Amino acid sequence: MKYYIVSKSDFNSKKIKNLLIEKINGEMTPINPEYVFTIGGDGTFLKAVHRFPNATFFGIRTGHLGFYTSYSYHDIDLIVESIKEKNYVINELPLLSCYLNNDTNHPYYALNEMTLISQPTTLILDTYIDDDLFEEFRGTGICVATPSGSTGYNKSLGGAIIDNDLLSMQLSEIAGINSKFYETIRNSMILSQKHHFTFKPARKYKTIYFTIDNFGYNLEFVESVEVRIGEKYVKIASKEKADFISKVKKSFLRPIVRKNIDW
Ligand code: NAP
Ligand code: MN
Repeated sequence: MKYYIVSKSDFNSKKIKNLLIEKINGEMTPINPEYVFTIGGDGTFLKAVHRFPNATFFGIRTGHLGFYTSYSYHDIDLIVESIKEKNYVINELPLLSCYLNNDTNHPYYALNEMTLISQPTTLILDTYIDDDLFEEFRGTGICVATPSGSTGYNKSLGGAIIDNDLLSMQLSEIAGINSKFYETIRNSMILSQKHHFTFKPARKYKTIYFTIDNFGYNLEFVESVEVRIGEKYVKIASKEKADFISKVKKSFLRPIVRKNIDW
């Protein structure tokens, strides 16, 4: 069995990494590993997915939130055992595919979201849905999130939290400009897999920044960026079927304290 470990470099993460190497049977190699273990937070997980898009992932949490990391260091024996017995549960999460300038041979994948951003001048983007011009966007930029990415950047932009079982993608604005002269839809738009977005910069910008998760590229003179959901999936192992709602609740809400009010 070929495996690889992508780990943060703090003391605790390294300790867990060494423990895992000690207990697991197999060859540690970055060449086509079947299993990839990530030790850290969601950021570490995202980096590993970009490096090994075809592996089966076990996310071990040493970061803060851990939307993708459902195991803790207490679970090392369980992980080793469940690989031996092949009795882990696999969640398949859809990725966005982004195609620059219609280059269908070279998709850029994102597990959380893609963004197009320009600063300091505003970005003007013709936004197409299924090849029909939908709006002329002006502002800082746009964000298209996957369901699992809806609790990341998308949430900070005021987007909706999407059930991870709902195959869809969500377009949100980053500081869209609205006035008598310029109009955008303003609300986030959630579309099914049947649709796709295409963004065409109105001018030949020198500085459009294109991000996919925690990777960013300066796009010089890009003509179009097409975005689709559900062409590719990433395989994530967990102990049981992931309970998305309780993860959202635990991560974003403080426990409810009921006070007995003495009227
Ligand atoms: P980071 O600055 O550490 O990420 C910001 C926070 O987002 C971290 O607490 C991270 O969790 C959390 N996070 C990542 N994916 C999430 C998800 N799917 N659901 C809920 N929380 C999530 O940078 P990073 O760790 O490299 O992560 C990159 C991600 O940061 C991007 O994909 C984007 O979603 C997010 N981001 C957010 C903003 C914003 O909210 N204004 C701006 C830029 C990027 P961990 O602590 O476990 O890593
Ligand atoms: Mn992080």
